[in-house]
Amino acid sequence: MSFKNIPIRKKLMAVNLLISVTVLFLTCAAFTTYEIITLRKGMVQGYTTRAQIIAANSTASLAFQNESDAADVLNAMKTDPRIMAACIFDNTGKIFAKFPTNTPDSFFPASSGKSGYQDDHLEIFCPVVQGGRTLGTVYLQSNLSALTDLYRAYAGLAAMIIASSILVAYLLSRTLQKQISVPILALAQTAQAISNRRDFSIRAIKIGDDETGLLTDSFNQLLASIEERDKVLQTVNESLRAEISERKRAEDALARERNLLRTMFDVLPDYIYLKDEQSRFVLCNNRRAEDNATSASVDNLVGKTDADFFPPEEAARFRADELKVLGGTPLIDKEETLVRPDGTRQVILTTKLPFRDSSGKIVGLVGYGRDITERKQAETKLQAQLARLELLNRITRAISERLDLRSIFQVVIGTVEERLPLDFSSVCLYEQNTNSLTVAGIGVRSETIATELGLTKDTPVDIDENGLSRCVHGQLVYEPDISDSKFPFPQRLARVGLRSLVFAPLLVESRVFGILISARRQPHSFSSGECEFLRQLSEHVALAAHQAQLYDALQEAYEDLRQTQQAVMQQERLKALGQMASGIAHDINNAISPVALYTESLLEKEPGLSPRARDYLTTIQHAIEDVSHTVARMREFYRQRETQLTLAPVRLNELVKQVIDLSRARWSDMPQQRGVFIKMETHLAPELPVTLGVESEIREALVNLVFNAVDAMPEGGTLTLRTKISENAPHFVQVEVSDTGVGMDEDTRRRCLEPFFTTKGERGTGLGLAMVYGIVRRHSADIEIESAIGKGTTMRLNFPVPATQITETGKSMAAFTVPTRLRLLIVDDDPLLIKSLRDTLESDGHFIITASGGQDGIDAFRKAKERNEPFTAVITDLGMPYVDGRHVASAVKSISPSTPVILLTGWGQRLVAEGDVPPHVDRVLNKPPKLRELREALAQCLHSNES
Ligand code: ADP
Ligand code: MG
Repeated sequence: MSFKNIPIRKKLMAVNLLISVTVLFLTCAAFTTYEIITLRKGMVQGYTTRAQIIAANSTASLAFQNESDAADVLNAMKTDPRIMAACIFDNTGKIFAKFPTNTPDSFFPASSGKSGYQDDHLEIFCPVVQGGRTLGTVYLQSNLSALTDLYRAYAGLAAMIIASSILVAYLLSRTLQKQISVPILALAQTAQAISNRRDFSIRAIKIGDDETGLLTDSFNQLLASIEERDKVLQTVNESLRAEISERKRAEDALARERNLLRTMFDVLPDYIYLKDEQSRFVLCNNRRAEDNATSASVDNLVGKTDADFFPPEEAARFRADELKVLGGTPLIDKEETLVRPDGTRQVILTTKLPFRDSSGKIVGLVGYGRDITERKQAETKLQAQLARLELLNRITRAISERLDLRSIFQVVIGTVEERLPLDFSSVCLYEQNTNSLTVAGIGVRSETIATELGLTKDTPVDIDENGLSRCVHGQLVYEPDISDSKFPFPQRLARVGLRSLVFAPLLVESRVFGILISARRQPHSFSSGECEFLRQLSEHVALAAHQAQLYDALQEAYEDLRQTQQAVMQQERLKALGQMASGIAHDINNAISPVALYTESLLEKEPGLSPRARDYLTTIQHAIEDVSHTVARMREFYRQRETQLTLAPVRLNELVKQVIDLSRARWSDMPQQRGVFIKMETHLAPELPVTLGVESEIREALVNLVFNAVDAMPEGGTLTLRTKISENAPHFVQVEVSDTGVGMDEDTRRRCLEPFFTTKGERGTGLGLAMVYGIVRRHSADIEIESAIGKGTTMRLNFPVPATQITETGKSMAAFTVPTRLRLLIVDDDPLLIKSLRDTLESDGHFIITASGGQDGIDAFRKAKERNEPFTAVITDLGMPYVDGRHVASAVKSISPSTPVILLTGWGQRLVAEGDVPPHVDRVLNKPPKLRELREALAQCLHSNES
């Protein structure tokens, strides 16, 4: 790695170390050199001194030639190891003495020489002088070991110093170099980060105010200015980009617009084109191009003129127009009628305008054409339509003023015949049952044709397979040409020269009741508008006819209503009469009560009566019975009109027998005449509880059921009447009428009770079962119907059995002994009745107290109780002023609950109807009272009290 590339930190250290080592080295070298030079001079001086000393010491020896002395002097050299050799030359140059003595003479140099350093030794020459005379020369030779030692010592020292200096310098520069390298490195890192991230908002951190600090500052400033410029650049960039995309969008929009324009231009239903001065097509939309049958495409058309497509005279006409336009006169909304190659006519609304270039010069023309053929046709159609509408209006107005069918038809036929116009028109009525048509009206003008045809009023027309039959099924039928028709009726019309015809149905509530026939001599002469007109007209006619019918029906209904009103008034009168009769009945009952009682009593109690008296009395008794029967019938008459029933005990078994007798003619005689046999069976339950009801009504209901059963068995069968106690509800008794006849389906079974529901057509009224149902409801009973097709029907009536069984007159009398000596209280406002009752009952051995009003009765009863002479029973009238029988009964029961109360009433058994029997009454007896009934009632009440 070259020095340049090593990190700055290491560089700094290396520089430091190098400098310090160099300095030290130079210092050491200078110092050492100086020392060596000093030492060498010193050595020369030292050894020179020594040689002088030797010379001084050896003057004598030399002067006297004493060699040994001289040797001795030299011998002193041996203290110095560095002296390698020494000698003394005599003045001749001959070695006089030497050291070491064994040193060869050759070792020594010539006797004179110059002192100084030789290669590896130091030579000193010093003359021996005495008295100015030179006696010889001293020679010394020393080795340089002193020098070498010194060198060594210095080298070691220098090495030591340098080594330690390097160490110290290294340590110092290691710490100190950070002062310089850290800020630089920080800068470098910042620069790195910026270049990595391209983020010029990063700033270097400044450490100290030295040059690096300065550098950091200028670096940061540089960054700031770069950042600034960067931003500017970015903004410029962005606006540049926006501008580019804007331009692109604008280009797209332009392209789209152009496309749209072209498409619109092409899809326009109108013709648009541009022509040059020679009337040659330069440009046109698709519509224009396609329409010219000769050329299929835009390109084909360009360059051609109208002469290429239209007959010459037509093309010339167009050219003449265009020349005017080219001359500067625009052509606006000209209607042009063209005949196309296929023969169809086309109406075009054309506008042609001069086309100028930018300098205003006319260089061609722009044409614009609209196909208004359809509009024209529609206009014509509309006018026809309007005319027809007006006609329709007139006819409708005319017929709405008429209420009889014939004149409605006449108006219609007459008007359409004249105004549409028609060669033949007629209205036929349709009879669904016979599927035939009858002529109901023929137009005045059509009459000749009609006579030819043999069609006169009220002649029937057969309905053929085709047109007429479709029409009577509700369709409008148009035959454009009947000359070849295979069907009889159109053939007939064709024979008299008619060619096209329309049958329009007269429809009311989806039922066709007639046909409007319109015909013309011209084939294909009915437009669709006319057909539609005839359809609408037929609807109106049908409606008017329907209204006429409705009007008739309304008249009828009104008549019915009037009659019903009269019937109701009649009923009201009867009701009033009935109420009157009821009141009279009450009074008569009261009035004849004493007569009845006395007569009965006399006949019974007076044995000594003369036969004549007895005979008279018997007659009176019969007369009274007759009167009471008459009264009862009077009440019966009233009952039929009142809603409330007067229920009486009914013994169903007996009733059934009566019913069989009453209806015998229907189930036996009449069928037998037809050779049909109906077998009658009865199953009557013994000891059937008595039920409450109106005998005549129940009888009527049963007779109706028997009649229905007979009707259901046209081929004969078995008719069964049955009574029984209901198995699942013992408080009901049942009467069944069963047949083995045709039975009913489910729908009939569900609906048969509805009033007016019948399957017997004219023979039935549908009221029989409705009446049965009404009767059943009034008796709080119900009806069950079991039936299956072909299996027969069972009609079952369920009657409730009252909780208190009413024993009928004369029954079980023997079971009770008639008590005597009873204390009885009689309350009634009729003194005659009181008297007669008192007389007859007293003669029976009872003790009687009477009261002439309700309050009196109650007081008497209370007092007797207080006196401790209580009554055994109380007999009270029902209708009394102020306090009536009900009050008396309840007062008596509140004082003494066990005392029986017998209610006498002139209103008959009506009270016994459910819920109407006053709660505190034990028995109800009719007026006029019969002694027998009274006795029996008393016996029964007391008996039930004892038990
Ligand atoms: P009508 O006898 O006048 O038709 P009803 O009210 O008596 O009127 O009866 C209504 C209908 O109930 C009858 O038309 C018949 O269809 C049906 N119907 C009644 N009784 C019988 C029966 N015993 N068997 C079959 N169908 C019956
Ligand atoms: Mg019936």
